[in-house]
Amino acid sequence: MKDIMDYGEARELILQRVAPVGTEKAPLSLCGGRILAQKLTAAENVPAFDRSPYDGYAFRAADTAQTPVTLTVIEEAPAGAVATKTVAPGTAAKILTGAPIPSGADAVVKFEQTDFTPETVTIHTRFRPGENIVRAGEDVRAGAELAHAGQRIDPGLAGTLAAQGVYAPAVYRRPRVGVISTGNEVVEEEAAAPPAPGKIRNTNRYMLEAALRSAGCEPVFLGVAPDRAEAIRDAMARGLGACDAIILTGGVSVGDYDMTRAAMELLGAELLVSGMDLKPGGACACGMRDGVLLCGLSGNPASAMTCFYGVMLPALRKLAGWEEPRLRPVTVTLGADFPKKSPKPRLLRGRLELADGTARFFPGNQGNAVISSLMGCEALAEVSAGSGPIPAGTALKGYLL
Ligand code: AMP
Ligand code: MG
Repeated sequence: MKDIMDYGEARELILQRVAPVGTEKAPLSLCGGRILAQKLTAAENVPAFDRSPYDGYAFRAADTAQTPVTLTVIEEAPAGAVATKTVAPGTAAKILTGAPIPSGADAVVKFEQTDFTPETVTIHTRFRPGENIVRAGEDVRAGAELAHAGQRIDPGLAGTLAAQGVYAPAVYRRPRVGVISTGNEVVEEEAAAPPAPGKIRNTNRYMLEAALRSAGCEPVFLGVAPDRAEAIRDAMARGLGACDAIILTGGVSVGDYDMTRAAMELLGAELLVSGMDLKPGGACACGMRDGVLLCGLSGNPASAMTCFYGVMLPALRKLAGWEEPRLRPVTVTLGADFPKKSPKPRLLRGRLELADGTARFFPGNQGNAVISSLMGCEALAEVSAGSGPIPAGTALKGYLL
């Protein structure tokens, strides 16, 4: 293990050590946002039969060779029913949107384009065979490959699954991700009263729980651990049997009270990453034990979230089955000056404004402990090592969250 690793290298290293956690069947009505774990091949045509896109009349196009023409209405075909008679020359069937085209008919005219009585319909223009008929298989042909494992179930995919009668698709199980907050100062307040002097509220836990849920994971809070290696080890040990990954915050620097790395060693973990070339969030410790990924992040909330998004999130998405777990790259234009120098690579957090074909990126306050600029944060922007102050208008490589 290199001492200070490039953060991209750390991300890839962690990513290649994990695999999707497993699959289960879930009711389709609860599948929105989940990751499909099966291939979907169309077993049926969609639509299944030739149907009418309009309320109107079905007839034989040949009957409109001379217009106007008045046809005898022989029956009505509402949606959900099948016409019983064949449409012969000189006749038409009243038809409603979605109803199957009666045999003999090869065109449909909308109501509004006709004159009609209960017994007859008059058509004023010439029709081509096939006009206004939605053909069987027009949307999906039986046998077509529709979806594959790793795709997120968006409304379109949910509809596609339903259209094929797949009401309990295989989806990836949501990874269970343990969350441990370390630090003697961190308290979980039941009441709204301010914490005792010197103590602080646990904000990292709630940020991580929210971020994990958006990544399709199920957070499992494993408690607050004091700054003692044994206590942190015991908290991790509690999670090993129950979790697919564990995230800790605090205690990853090199101070007297920084015990997370020592705790990983006590647990017998294989240490994968110990510090990265990144600001903020470069202090970190990642390891593996019993196939469980252990991610120790800084206690500073913004550092923790930057490292979480920029380095850990792809691995968690991969555990969750995402086919492309890395953050999507996008070129952004810095919306305001960024005055600081960057001796190390930086990931800025910010809001995006999309206007006039440009994604403007507004970084806000980038302090290590500043949570406010994480609100509404939709992207990270990368600043390379050795950069000086960066003026507004500069193009940066960004990553969508
Ligand atoms: P550490 O990484 O342990 O050196 O902590 C860095 C800073 O983050 C300190 O100011 C801690 O008090 C703060 N901190 C640690 N854990 C949390 C937490 N769970 N929520 C909010 N702040 C924290
Ligand atoms: Mg600490």
